[in-house]
Amino acid sequence: MYASFLDHHVHSSFSWDSESPLETLAEVARKVGVGGFVVTDHLEFDKTDPGFGYYGYEAAREAWEEIQDVTPDLKIRFGAEVTHQEKHLHAIRDFLHAHRYHWVIGSAHYVGHEEISTYVARVEGEGIPLEECLGGYFATCLKAVESNLYDCLGHLDFPKRYSRLGPSLTGAFWLQHYRRTILDTLTACLDMGVFLEVNTGTYRVGFDEPYPGWAILEAYREMGGREVVLSSDAHRPEDLGTAFSVVVKELAKRGLSIRNGVV
Ligand SMILES: [Zn+2]
Ligand SMILES: [Zn+2]
Repeated sequence: MYASFLDHHVHSSFSWDSESPLETLAEVARKVGVGGFVVTDHLEFDKTDPGFGYYGYEAAREAWEEIQDVTPDLKIRFGAEVTHQEKHLHAIRDFLHAHRYHWVIGSAHYVGHEEISTYVARVEGEGIPLEECLGGYFATCLKAVESNLYDCLGHLDFPKRYSRLGPSLTGAFWLQHYRRTILDTLTACLDMGVFLEVNTGTYRVGFDEPYPGWAILEAYREMGGREVVLSSDAHRPEDLGTAFSVVVKELAKRGLSIRNGVV
């Protein structure tokens, strides 16, 4: 399909919430027709996170080295997805400086001490409008970019996945209510050379747009953004490359092109 593109966000069995063997991921990559993928297993720094302590760098790196030998036709790169939390900034920095990766995604998965899915369910249950209580989430995205620790910002506008409103809650809503922080985040991406991820995981749960939504991507284009990286956030092998063909066309219509963030 798109042999030159890599899927830049794929979880393997080194993530606490995935059982995908690298061999199977490689098979699916061939079938889907992408040029390869980046393994971005969860790397957690908060003791309360269910993934804390699960990931082992040495074992993950070794598995990646081994898969190289049997996949000369694919480009498979070694990365990680870090949950960005300001309170763990120093620990994250120390770890990333001491370990080698081709590609590190910084993502916000929490609001305060609550994981986003729990948080959104709670506030909606309490009748608090989402336009009033997700400032902390978007502020963390901005901080992640400004930290200068990551190659890429993961799934901006991620909370939409967990709202009762479902796929009717698009990027336009977030841009309307959190405009200042979102535009500051996009500016920071452009100024600092941090890639914006176009994450198609949304298409597996009924959305017709990626994270971030079209309205945000259009704003990015208007600000001078030209390139994005493409990712599926697959936690199961069959999810690698989700909706890439649709999204590539939609991005082209909006004047955005796809780039590989790793060589
Ligand atoms: Zn994530
Ligand atoms: Zn992920």
